[in-house]
Amino acid sequence: MTLLLNGFELAKQCRAALSEKIKTLPRAPRLAVILAGSDPASAVYVRNKEKAAREVGIESAVYRFESITQKELLTLIDSLNKNTDTDGILVQLPLPEGLDEKEILQAIDPAKDVDGFHPLNLGKLMIEEPAPIACTPKGCLKLIHLARQNLTGLSAVVIGRSVIVGKPMAQLLLKENCTVTAAHSKTKDLPELCRKADIVVAAIGKPKMVKADWIKDGAIVIDVGINRLKDGKLCGDVDFEACFNKCDAITPVPKGVGPMTIAMLLENTVEAMERRLSL
Ligand code: NAD
Repeated sequence: MTLLLNGFELAKQCRAALSEKIKTLPRAPRLAVILAGSDPASAVYVRNKEKAAREVGIESAVYRFESITQKELLTLIDSLNKNTDTDGILVQLPLPEGLDEKEILQAIDPAKDVDGFHPLNLGKLMIEEPAPIACTPKGCLKLIHLARQNLTGLSAVVIGRSVIVGKPMAQLLLKENCTVTAAHSKTKDLPELCRKADIVVAAIGKPKMVKADWIKDGAIVIDVGINRLKDGKLCGDVDFEACFNKCDAITPVPKGVGPMTIAMLLENTVEAMERRLSL
């Protein structure tokens, strides 16, 4: 029988565990969230993060700006870096046009980089040193582990090579001793590559692109994609209904990877505080 990898439930368990842990800390962890511009989707994501943080006992401060210059944003990040009461800093992406995302992300103190996007932290992932790990791939790995603990020797195909999902995901699976193929828009014969994979992670942004005949019997399928269809419904990058019976385990969309991304942000905030204060 196929296992439904219920990210909603797993995220609930992660949040409950964090909530207990936070009660044992000398003070509440503190997260600063910066929201620049007026993208409605970003505003919803930030509200969800704020609510989730509050519920586990993390204090969050949201800095909202309709418009802000690069210099002003860098000045704010500098002051949050220096503020000893701030454990984590998150800049909601995408930033409005005119702001240099790379420069902004690199300005965040790597010790407070709860999104794990700072080059130093991405580099530490490469050399397998402890560091904040990007929330979405970190959550995906926990979901994969619900299906199977030991991934040694499995073949994995990660579709998508973004810095925030695909690349760190491939690296995490490599660390788990998988043989990893990083596929992307220029990959030849992607269906054939996927057919050989024990694990498929789809992070593409194309509704239902991964078809049932791409999936090997017994594979684990993780769907990162969030796509809105014309009728307003959300769907992933995987044709869920068609693939369900072919695989051993699969994430739904919604209630799959999405809730885990937020839970991992909370976990990264607590871990950042513990590392900073050597707890
Ligand atoms: P991105 O646009 O930065 O990257 C997409 C990747 O897909 C690229 O590397 C590209 O090479 C690859 N790609 C595009 N077309 C392809 C094709 N035809 N064949 C093979 N590869 C192809 O996107 P991203 O930020 O990595 O996000 C990917 C998806 O995941 C989006 O739908 C996004 O909304 C979603 N997402 C979800 C979460 C979550 O928490 N669930 C978090 C981040 C992103």
